[in-house]
Amino acid sequence: MSILLNGVGVSRGIAIGPAYVYVRATIKVTEYNVPVKHQEKEIKRLHRAVEAASAQLHEIRDKIIRDTPEDILAFIDSHLLMLEDPAFDEGAASIIEEYSCNAEWALQVQCDRLVQVFDDMKDPYLRTRKDDVLHVAQRIQHCLAEVQAGEFEDVNLKGKIIIADDLTPADTLMMQHQKVGALVTEFGGPLSHTAILARNLGIPAVVGAHNARMLIHPGEQLIVDGNYGVIIGEPDRRSLKHYRGLRRELRARKKELNELRNTPTITQDGVTITLQGNIDRPEDIKKLKLQDDAGVGLYRTEMLFLENNEIVDEETQFKNYKRALFRLKGKPLTIRTLDLGADKEINEAFGQGPMAHNPAMGLRAIRRCLKEPETFINQLCAILRVAAYGDVKMMIPMMTSIGELEQISGLIEQAKAQLRQRKVRFNENLDIGAMIEVPAAALSSEIFAHRMDFLSIGTNDLIQYTLAIDRIDDEVNYLYNPLHHAVLQLIQIIIDASKKTGTPISMCGEMASDPRYTRLLLGMGLEYFSVQANVLLEIKDIINNSDISKLRPKVRKILNCHDLHDIEIRVAKLNK
Ligand code: PEP
Ligand code: MG
Repeated sequence: MSILLNGVGVSRGIAIGPAYVYVRATIKVTEYNVPVKHQEKEIKRLHRAVEAASAQLHEIRDKIIRDTPEDILAFIDSHLLMLEDPAFDEGAASIIEEYSCNAEWALQVQCDRLVQVFDDMKDPYLRTRKDDVLHVAQRIQHCLAEVQAGEFEDVNLKGKIIIADDLTPADTLMMQHQKVGALVTEFGGPLSHTAILARNLGIPAVVGAHNARMLIHPGEQLIVDGNYGVIIGEPDRRSLKHYRGLRRELRARKKELNELRNTPTITQDGVTITLQGNIDRPEDIKKLKLQDDAGVGLYRTEMLFLENNEIVDEETQFKNYKRALFRLKGKPLTIRTLDLGADKEINEAFGQGPMAHNPAMGLRAIRRCLKEPETFINQLCAILRVAAYGDVKMMIPMMTSIGELEQISGLIEQAKAQLRQRKVRFNENLDIGAMIEVPAAALSSEIFAHRMDFLSIGTNDLIQYTLAIDRIDDEVNYLYNPLHHAVLQLIQIIIDASKKTGTPISMCGEMASDPRYTRLLLGMGLEYFSVQANVLLEIKDIINNSDISKLRPKVRKILNCHDLHDIEIRVAKLNK
């Protein structure tokens, strides 16, 4: 018999697959950061895997029966020779050092490089030898995985629907490598960082599905509809047919939108709009590039700290930021300084102080950085250094008062002085912007606009703090609404302040990533959106089919409405 559960759809898409009731565990990742101090260990792990692969091949060779043809022996010998060649081992080791990455990823990069060498060869036979490179690399990867087998739970999550009580951003990051089908949690809200991550990763997700773990059995077939927050257990034939059809439609629409890749974003009345992406880690740029050749309007650097579950040193940060910049190939990178705290916490990083009663209003983001200047200066140094290599901007989260700005400027000067003394190359004049995500900052946005090189609206927190709704508390999520009159007024104040002062303004909060609000924001004067990669083309399509001059008077009327229902109807009409 089918069972129907409801939650809040937080990441769109349809998934059909077996249920996996998730028990929190550390899962093997394909690409992750390895801090400088652990690199030697990582290189040793790589060497051990190469030795193990070599031992396996020797064992196979020893077992080969006597009259085996010479060419097969030669085939194995060539693999053994490859394993002994420093091109593999040393090449991958230097990638670990250069990019502060794990052995698996370094090996993959080195393998791609070697394959490229063979691909470029004129001789067709030599070109086929790239398969040998791939086989050898695969064998080493296999050995690396075996080394880890004891540490990680050996579960294949590909295509499975994860049922959990709640997921931390770190869990979600770990899962993306496993290509899970969908995420369903009993708790959590649409603006939790986990929900944002799921959207960013393009994984359909439903949160607030109470008692899901009790009602859903492991292995049971499920349909998850991330648009409407619906979960169907043991679906009947009719439901399956319906959702398979929907899934096909979504895929077809995606194909259509792909035509917009790398085309300009420009409204019907000729206004060019900047459309960039939000990322959590350098690897996300690959996904962004699959959508559009856009720059990055928000790089949440705290994810690096969360993945390592510790404070990360300057050198490791610098290498990560450089990796992101390198991947962007000349497009701009906006690095946000640490926004740790509240639901983005690392264990024991700041000692065992008493638990904050209200962490969202506590020692979070820039407040925390100002309290821990050493950690902050390390990050400032890393950002200043990477800014010498390309178009990098720095953005400060959760600014509340100009007093903070003065403290920050002092620390930036200290970071510069340190770099000068160390004779390290850095950018003296990088642009520094403020995230406007606290109502106090929104009301003072003209003052911030005068003092900063740019502003960016963080609607996730701006709404949380304006409406006094904890963004991760599903008991009050129903009250969370970007269309609340007060929220719209604050956004308009920020946009007007930026126009008046000529300071560039973007929006990087989730409101910018919601296609329902694109036209409203265009009508309010927003010309720079930083969005989740998976909605970028959909938003571009809406912008290209919008006429700002026609939207403006309608939006002005919306801003004069006080009734939420009335506002919702009018905003929906903009999209017709
Ligand atoms: C925001 O608050 O809108 C924002 C982009 O920051 P975060 O979601 O990381 O708090
Ligand atoms: Mg925020």
